[in-house]
Amino acid sequence: MQAIQLKEQIRNLIELQKIDTQIYALKEEKELRPKEIEEKEKEFEEKKKQLQILDKQMQDLLKEKKDKELELASKEENLKKMQVQLYQLKTNKEYTAMLKEIEGVKADISLIEDKILEILDRIDAKKIEIENGKRELVNEEQKFNTERSKIQARIKEIEDTLINLESQRKIATSKIESQILAQYERILKNREGLAIVKVNNNACQGCNMTVPPQVINLIKMYERIISCEICQRLLYLEEDL
Ligand SMILES: [Zn+2]
Repeated sequence: MQAIQLKEQIRNLIELQKIDTQIYALKEEKELRPKEIEEKEKEFEEKKKQLQILDKQMQDLLKEKKDKELELASKEENLKKMQVQLYQLKTNKEYTAMLKEIEGVKADISLIEDKILEILDRIDAKKIEIENGKRELVNEEQKFNTERSKIQARIKEIEDTLINLESQRKIATSKIESQILAQYERILKNREGLAIVKVNNNACQGCNMTVPPQVINLIKMYERIISCEICQRLLYLEEDL
């Protein structure tokens, strides 16, 4: 191949690389975006679970309240019976003993009433916590849905752009000699979508390593396309094309 033809091929490769750089970036974005949705969905599900835990705690409190109320009713029933019995007692000793017992039951009732009040306070606090949690969840859901629509729209946009780029790519590859194209494609695949790079200040712009003067001389001879000795990417001198 003559130098003039080789230069033409290199220019075509640079054009192709421009297209491929966009394709690689867009494909990467297209792959990462659904993961963002998944992440957000996970966060959202986590918050839902937290709310379920709060609901369960509320159920437990209501159950505890009911148990205490039953206990209270039974004690009160007991007290009533004792107070009736009190007037049927014959001896002073029995009377004093029953009074003492009644005092004991009254003290128990007072304790249970305190406990019920405490549970009611906890139920009120839990109610507020649940209401806040639900409000937050609604907000989160709206945010999540908005975010998801945005991401889905972006993915659609990427897909459309990719179709366009692929057809540009077809035209670009048709201008490149098959052996050179095969070499380019191989490097493109192995080097994360960057196959041809310029030499800038004697450094390969692919791996940033120094390109020795003898390699630069080889590039300037335009007998064949020269690769970076370190990263294998194809090299060119911008000022020389
Ligand atoms: Zn390199």
